[in-house]
Amino acid sequence: MSHIQSLWAATANAHQTRVKLEGSITTDVIIIGGGYTGLSTAYHLARQHVNCVVLEQQQVGWGASGRNGGMVLTGYKSSMYDIAKKLGKDAARELLAISVDGINVVADIVAKHGIACSLANCGNFDAAYKPAHFDALKKNQEYMLKHFNYETHIVEKKDLKQELDSPLYHGGLVDPHSYSFHPLNYALGLADAAESLGAVIYDETPALSIQKVGQQFIVKTPSGQVSAMHLVMGTNGYTTELCKQLAVSVMPIGSYIVATERLPRATVERLIPNDRMVADTKNFLYYFRRTPDDRILLGGRVDFAGMESPALYNTVHGNLLEVFPELKDRKIEYRWGGLLGFTLDFFPHIGQLEDGTHFALGYCGHGASISSLMGKLIAQNVIDPLREKNQLERIPLKRIPLHGQRAIVLNLVSKYYHLLDKLF
Ligand SMILES: Cc1cc2nc3c(=O)[nH]c(=O)nc-3n(C[C@H](O)[C@H](O)[C@H](O)COP(=O)(O)OP(=O)(O)OC[C@H]3O[C@@H](n4cnc5c(N)ncnc54)[C@H](O)[C@@H]3O)c2cc1C
Repeated sequence: MSHIQSLWAATANAHQTRVKLEGSITTDVIIIGGGYTGLSTAYHLARQHVNCVVLEQQQVGWGASGRNGGMVLTGYKSSMYDIAKKLGKDAARELLAISVDGINVVADIVAKHGIACSLANCGNFDAAYKPAHFDALKKNQEYMLKHFNYETHIVEKKDLKQELDSPLYHGGLVDPHSYSFHPLNYALGLADAAESLGAVIYDETPALSIQKVGQQFIVKTPSGQVSAMHLVMGTNGYTTELCKQLAVSVMPIGSYIVATERLPRATVERLIPNDRMVADTKNFLYYFRRTPDDRILLGGRVDFAGMESPALYNTVHGNLLEVFPELKDRKIEYRWGGLLGFTLDFFPHIGQLEDGTHFALGYCGHGASISSLMGKLIAQNVIDPLREKNQLERIPLKRIPLHGQRAIVLNLVSKYYHLLDKLF
């Protein structure tokens, strides 16, 4: 997975490179993974004067946190209406509030530390791919208003140009509570904020093995080791056999993005007039937005094997032209991909393994803000193991069946999903 071609890497704020761990050290909490989950855990621990060390195998923000679409969204992968049907109205109400808390955590950190990451309360737009999808969005909007007093609004197909100049969609739903940001700049700023409070972060330091000896975790790295009473896994879509129990419960799925050359301001303002973060309602959805420097960025084409190829990016380019045919003569200047972490029930999960390891993962492409909240909750759980858990923390993480064969099986399934997206 290349990082270098991403628009976010090309437009990142000036930032430091960090040293790798050399030698043996002891701390209170070891955190594996330098994305939002790991960095937010470190930030919130350091705020409470707890010593912690982050081990990142590449550089801070190298994973999904530095590569995502920058859509800082409310809610979850499933609609609140579907969640209420599955878990009940009260649980759904609490889960919605938790997702909004995720955005508040991001906004607070950004404001407190003056992180320059273009954070903006632009709202998001769910674009209906089929008339039936529009009906489902309407039902969701009415349900959230009636039962949660949560205001969103519907845009009829005839009014679509108010939100989107695309021939592909049948209206949609605006949620004004969502935000956008420059994802890598948020990750870099979060790392600096954590360090300013006393957290220690090592780049280019892969955790190679984890042992528990008595009450102590010992994590070995290529040229050192860290010992601590507590261990946190923040590896999400990049989780490997290093932690087998988590690897069998999170499915890495590749998602790929293209970004155009810079476009005239008038063009981007017409294509997405209110600068919303847009995702459509397909199973294999397209997500797209304007960028701070007037490009159109579109992500799509999931791939279960996580294999990049020119053909794959041609497909994503084709997806972009389906949405905005008038961009056919515009150059694509950036292409990149990264790994999402999916779970069986499409919920993010937080908890502890039997040996005490804390984890949070499985954001299902919806983790730009809730992962920062998860880091805060992990920090609270380390400090006060008996604190009362919220609704999200009470949902158990399940193993994904056919773990060993999953890439092959799911690549087959994905072919049919694309067909289903066309048919239904
Ligand atoms: C292309 C793409 C687009 C997305 N778009 C959006 C979006 O617009 N909105 C949204 O809400 N979400 C989006 N997401 C999802 C979102 O980016 C993630 O949910 C979020 O960044 C997860 O953060 P994380 O810290 O848990 O994981 P990551 O950011 O993936 O970090 C995990 C880190 O762990 C490190 N690691 C793994 N193993 C080891 C090891 N053994 N030793 C040391 N380090 C290790 C990796 O190098 C990596 O940096 C997108 C994801 C992708 C890939």
